[in-house]
Amino acid sequence: MTNPNESDSEGRSMTVERQAADGPGAGGGEKGGAGSGESRPAVRRGVFFLVIGPSGVGKNTLITKVLRKHPDIRYLVTVTTRPRRPGEREGDPYHFVTRQEFDQKIARGDLIEWKQIHSGEYYGCPRQPVDDGLAAGVDLMKDIDVLGAQDVLAAYPADVVPVFVATSSMADLEKRIRGRSHAPEAEVQERLARARMEMEHQDRFKYLLYNDDLAVSAEQLARIVAEERVAREAGGTGSKSNGPTSKV
Ligand code: ADP
Repeated sequence: MTNPNESDSEGRSMTVERQAADGPGAGGGEKGGAGSGESRPAVRRGVFFLVIGPSGVGKNTLITKVLRKHPDIRYLVTVTTRPRRPGEREGDPYHFVTRQEFDQKIARGDLIEWKQIHSGEYYGCPRQPVDDGLAAGVDLMKDIDVLGAQDVLAAYPADVVPVFVATSSMADLEKRIRGRSHAPEAEVQERLARARMEMEHQDRFKYLLYNDDLAVSAEQLARIVAEERVAREAGGTGSKSNGPTSKV
């Protein structure tokens, strides 16, 4: 789920659209972001790229490709209670903690958002690396589901660039979900139901990227990243204008 090192596969076509300004990622917020004050800091704050969408849509595949182009962007590692699998190690692809440690993190407010999934395991986005990275001017990238994205956007409205990844057809998404894991049918159905729910939110974020042709969509995501970075270097808050929906 959170492994940006997964192998790629090929797809078909895609478009990217800039969304109208009424979604949660539409406006720059007030909270300590790059554009929050008149006195600009010597080091610009980092940008937090959220790659949003249902499980299986290709978020990690895209992230892996984009991080190859932008190796200075830091991938933000999720904290989880799920057991480590053979070949995995601490920090790759997750920070592995016990249930008790996870509960402590919740109690201390160390997680920006967290959830329990169908398997019963917990996953969360740690706060400290986000605060530290953004303050040091490091750009961050993370894959996330719709609800988690809304929490992160609420916490870092001026720092987050939200990109929703979709497929043009649910049939394609189902193929990917089924192709990737051999989960029991009941679990697949649950994932599909959740994916349908998440897809309904696709118009709520600043960018919408159809991951049909992987090479093209990776290119588009890399371009969004490059453009947002340039905009911030120039001292703005990225292209978070309240302009109309437009093709990129
Ligand atoms: P997510 O991180 O959103 O859960 P993954 O990146 O793990 O999804 O991708 C899920 C599966 O879909 C993987 O097997 C991946 O190789 C495949 N995939 C990703 N993008 C595409 C695409 N554009 N066309 C076809 N298959 C794809």
